[in-house]
Amino acid sequence: MTPLEISKQYFDKAADLLDYDHRARIMLWTPYREVKVELTAEMDSGEIGTFIGYRIQHDNARGPMKGGLRYHPSVDPEEVQSLASLMSWKTAVVNIPFGGAKGGVACDPRSLSQRELEIITRKLVDGLQDVIGPYTDIPAPDVNTNAQVMAWIMDQYSKYQGFSPAVVTGKPVELHGSLGREAATGRGVIIGLEALMKHLGEPLEGQRVVIQGFGNVGSYAARFASELGAKIIAASDQDGAVHNPDGLNVVALAEHVSQTKTVVGFSGGEAVARDSVLTMDCDILIPAALGNAITTENMKDVQARIIVEGANGPVSFDADEYLTKKGTVILPDIFANAGGVTASYFEWVQNVQQYKWSEVEVNRALSRALLEAFEGLLAFRAKLKTDFRSAAYGLALERVRGATMQRGLR
Ligand code: NAD
Repeated sequence: MTPLEISKQYFDKAADLLDYDHRARIMLWTPYREVKVELTAEMDSGEIGTFIGYRIQHDNARGPMKGGLRYHPSVDPEEVQSLASLMSWKTAVVNIPFGGAKGGVACDPRSLSQRELEIITRKLVDGLQDVIGPYTDIPAPDVNTNAQVMAWIMDQYSKYQGFSPAVVTGKPVELHGSLGREAATGRGVIIGLEALMKHLGEPLEGQRVVIQGFGNVGSYAARFASELGAKIIAASDQDGAVHNPDGLNVVALAEHVSQTKTVVGFSGGEAVARDSVLTMDCDILIPAALGNAITTENMKDVQARIIVEGANGPVSFDADEYLTKKGTVILPDIFANAGGVTASYFEWVQNVQQYKWSEVEVNRALSRALLEAFEGLLAFRAKLKTDFRSAAYGLALERVRGATMQRGLR
């Protein structure tokens, strides 16, 4: 199953629960605009490099479209469309006034120099500058893109349109970025998890947590969970994994990763096989790497009672059905990792108003937005008598459909 087929299955399941007709489904599922651009760059070797960049704008009924840019060899139009639709549902679940989009470049950033990355990024903006903008479509970081890449986007776009910090979020704090944005997705994962534990009547303290993907989302989620007393017993990245049944020192692990770029070789734990963390004995699993981590291949071996989706699309449809039937509670991506886009919204607000918030203000607003969203999710779940994912999709579809109809179809 491709990521697009999987997200369509989740969409259809919720549309079935809501009894949507064919017309409503086509209207909500079809992307608004799909753009593909050729990016040609002179590489450090003197060779000509040709890359393909994508931006798929899924829906703008609720506001300007919003979504990250991913630099990864797996980027293709299907993956981007799937992720773009997730953004429309995510912004709707947390009720921020944006639609959804996603983009990316098919490349292996680990083999590119900073200079090459900068050229590719600026060429991408050259190709997209007509269709992005502060009130049209606002990119943000995703896998392998960071504040520096966002700064290049802002600079290049501003050459065409004049000074425009609000065209992109996730910028460096010194360059119109927001305090609190970098940690916001991981923080949001744990705000959601804490609310879920309270709802389930269980403490977070003492729970054994496994993190798949110790990158931006995974490392901050690990840090905040550990601050609340959870025990992070394993963490992985694309090169390997470390395990410590007594709990990893996540601050020391983050320091090790900042120096060596990998969790491998960390002396505070034992090296284990990378993918073993997904099926390890634990209470809570936080997949925070890429899509399709839990599929029919490994679903029967998953031992976690609770899965909180830090990544986008980490659990395939069939695995989700199987695990949900088994009683595993899954907090879905479109709610669980929405802290990032929510803080991005706050960054955009600060840029548009030209008024900077303190970190305390950002974190307080983030917490309030996510807790309100969780309450909304619980209420919709009770109404539909379903699991968290179908409830989140259902709530999002209703909000996007409502906005589309209120604006009118003419
Ligand atoms: P990142 O590049 O900072 O980190 C990704 C991590 O996953 C890296 O440590 C990488 O080594 C690891 N990884 C890759 N393949 C792996 C594998 N097979 N097994 C174990 N680890 C693996 O990216 P990120 O920004 O942390 O994003 C992670 C996920 O969260 C993505 O799915 C992304 O779409 C999603 N997400 C990110 C944000 C954000 O604000 N950064 C917001 C919402 C959702």
